[in-house]
Amino acid sequence: MAPHIVVLGSTNMDLVAYVPEAPRRGETVTGREFRTFPGGKGANQAVAAARAGATVSMIGAVGTDAFGTQLRTALDHSGVDTDLLRTVEGATGTAHIVVDDDGGNAIVVVPGANATLTGLTHGDEALITSADLLLLQLEIPLDGVVAAARHAREHGVRTVLTPAPAQQLPPELLDATDLLIPNEHEAAALTGAADPHAAAHALLDRVPEVVVTLGAEGSLYAARGAEPVTVPAPRVTAVDTTGAGDTFVGALAAALGEGRPLPSALGWASTAAALSVQRPGAAAAMPYRTEIDAAAEAER
Ligand code: AMP
Repeated sequence: MAPHIVVLGSTNMDLVAYVPEAPRRGETVTGREFRTFPGGKGANQAVAAARAGATVSMIGAVGTDAFGTQLRTALDHSGVDTDLLRTVEGATGTAHIVVDDDGGNAIVVVPGANATLTGLTHGDEALITSADLLLLQLEIPLDGVVAAARHAREHGVRTVLTPAPAQQLPPELLDATDLLIPNEHEAAALTGAADPHAAAHALLDRVPEVVVTLGAEGSLYAARGAEPVTVPAPRVTAVDTTGAGDTFVGALAAALGEGRPLPSALGWASTAAALSVQRPGAAAAMPYRTEIDAAAEAER
C-alpha cells in the first residue's frame, strides 16, 4: 500500500520575467519573455511525493482569481488530493521573479491566500491524524505550522519540517519535529555554525534527526546517538536546480512512508533530486517513481 502523506503549506503562482538586466529603482526595462509556473514549497513537495509514489493530500489555500483555479487543476493533474485546499476570497499567492541574463534573480513573494492558514479545521485535524507522515515548510503563518506539528505529534504521526525560508523557530515547533531538513544556509542561520557538521550536531539538541542538504555535494544525516552519515549526490550536469530541495524532500517522504530506513531512503531521494536538476523548471522537472527506480538501479 502506498503511504499517505499530508502536506500543509504554500501554493503560489510564479510569475517570471526574463530581462537582459534587472531594472533599478524608477527605471523601466523591456523583458524578453514572460512565463508562469505553479510553485510554492508546499505544493512542490506535494507534487514530488505524489510522483514518487505516495498518496498525497494537500492542505493549503488559493484565492478566487484565475491563478487559484489553475493551481488547483495542476495539483489535481499531479494526482494530489485537493479536497482540503481551500479557496478564499482574494488573491492567490504569487512570486514575482526577475531573472537576468547572468542567471541572477530578484524575487517578491506576496502570500495572498497562504496568509489565511493560521490554524487547522476539524477536517484538517482528521486528515493529519490518518496520515503516515506530515510535511511542513515555513511559507505560511507559523501559527498554522505549529498547530499542525503539535496535532501530528499528539497522534503519533511523523513530522518532517523544511525550515525555509530561514527564520528562527519557536521551541514548540522544534519540540514537535521528528526530522528537520535544512539546506546549508538554513542550517547556518538556525545555529550560527557555518560548517554543516557542526550545525547538524547543534540541531540534534533540538530534534532527534537532521538531514542537511548540500547541493551537488549530497546530504548529511545526523541522529542522536549515531555517527553522522554523508550521502553523496550522483554526478550529473545540472541545468536548473530550482525545486531540487523540494524534490528531495518529497521523494524522501515517500520512501520513509514505505518504511525504508533513513540512510537508504536518502540515497533514493538523492537519485530523484539529481534527475530533477537535469531538466528545466521546478514541479515540471520532478521525476516519476519508475524513472527514480530505473536511475537508482543504473547507479548500482
Ligand atoms: P540543495 O537544496 O541545493 O541543498 O539541494 C537539495 C538536494 O538536491 C541535494 O541534497 C542533492 O541531493 C540534490 N542536488 C542539488 N543540486 C544538485 C546537483 N548539482 N547535482 C546533483 N544533485 C543535486
